[in-house]
Amino acid sequence: TDRLHIIGGGMAGSEAAWQAAEAGVPVVLHEMRPRVGTFAHRTGLFAEMVCSNSFRSDDDERNAVGLLHWEMRAAGGLVLQSAEAHRLPAGGALAVDRDPFAAWITERLRSHPLISVSEEEVTELPDTGQWIVATGPLTSPALADSIRAATGADSLAFFDAIAPIVHADTIDMSVAWRQSRYDKGETEDERTAYINCPMTKDQYEAFIDALLAADKTEFREGETAGYFDGCLPIEVMAERGRETLRFGPMKPVGLTNAHNPGVKPYAVVQLRRDNALGTLYNIVGFQTKMKYGAQTTVFRMIPGLQDAAFARLGGIHRNTFINSPTLLDGQMRLRARPDIRFAGQITGVEGYVESAAMGLLAGRMAAAAMQGRDLPPPPPDTAMGALVAHITGGAEAKTFQPMNVNFGLFPPIDAKGGRRGRKDRYKAYTDRAKTSFGQWLAGQS
Ligand code: FAD
Repeated sequence: TDRLHIIGGGMAGSEAAWQAAEAGVPVVLHEMRPRVGTFAHRTGLFAEMVCSNSFRSDDDERNAVGLLHWEMRAAGGLVLQSAEAHRLPAGGALAVDRDPFAAWITERLRSHPLISVSEEEVTELPDTGQWIVATGPLTSPALADSIRAATGADSLAFFDAIAPIVHADTIDMSVAWRQSRYDKGETEDERTAYINCPMTKDQYEAFIDALLAADKTEFREGETAGYFDGCLPIEVMAERGRETLRFGPMKPVGLTNAHNPGVKPYAVVQLRRDNALGTLYNIVGFQTKMKYGAQTTVFRMIPGLQDAAFARLGGIHRNTFINSPTLLDGQMRLRARPDIRFAGQITGVEGYVESAAMGLLAGRMAAAAMQGRDLPPPPPDTAMGALVAHITGGAEAKTFQPMNVNFGLFPPIDAKGGRRGRKDRYKAYTDRAKTSFGQWLAGQS
């Protein structure tokens, strides 16, 4: 019988191997560690957590990542089973004892009758057979080169430069206005593609002071190679001169404040639509190494964003990922090579849970295809479905950057309501998702 080959025994590859094997498909899991290491991994174990030991919120009623936990449990996910078995007290978060967590997964995979392990680096995209590439943010350089050759140079990134993403319904439109610079664009939609936040001179100076004073995260050793030919963090731009941002991403030219046309803003912060649904906007050019707490404080100084809720905060990391919106189809297959699927962080999701979830899906999809079954992706109103729909089509391909699961990726339920209204809406999202996910699962048996 045909075997499914999975490259990478991390969060995604481990989950994919488990799902496919449990569905009855023989699997070869290729993992280069411990023979070949990365700057972040320490062990030869599968599903090693490279940094934090937390899978974040376990609240499946009001939190999108908690909902993703729920869906993975419902689907018999190996990563969630091990997390549950090695849980540490951590309030509402799902934190785990990392080494026993990973050792248990390693043991379950190694002892599975349908799984064999190849302890070798795969250095090239293979020509034949069914494959899942789940080599993560630290994909080995040789394989990354081969992926780059197959997808095109612009389609594989080695760093993420993540600008903060804001829930559109939390932007104060009595302060901000919609307009593209110089009203550029063929259609009304394009001419109003940006949301603009104006600043006076005093507001700008205070903002620069806050940027310079904010707590920053340091790069880890081995992480920075090639970083400066990417995008500079805004605080580094500010360090180069107080006016740098005003002549860079915050330049006020080609824009007229719709609320106050007579007064030219001293600086303007622009937000660009981040998904097809129009529920998320990223702050243009605002990639940053500021710590999360500092980011929230500093970005809420921007007029119009004083009450902003962030779908994700900014960051810059060593991170190998492909441009999934252009490269992958809805079955997570490389359009140009449908025998190769991608899963995990390399598809442009961000985080342990999201990566494992994409592994779960790719493993099930590959198994179904090899068994001649049809497996549609989960509906877009589920956490897993929203995430896979985002990376394989909903996200803006041109500015594609890695994404955490969040309710902004879901088809909206109700556009109205303030902060309290939003909380209630989250429960409606999770209720809807659970029903939908249950139906999707039931359709497979
Ligand atoms: P990984 O878990 O990295 O697994 C990929 C596997 O592929 C690895 O085992 C690797 O050895 C193997 N591999 C690579 N190339 C080859 C090859 N050519 N042949 C064979 N095997 C290969 N996420 C969080 O949620 N919380 C955090 O605190 C966090 N901190 C992070 C810190 C750092 C420094 C980095 C780099 C990432 C961090 N992440 C964090 C993101 C995290 O890496 C991912 O969320 C998650 O581990 C990705 O899962 P994955 O399966 O896609 O990749």
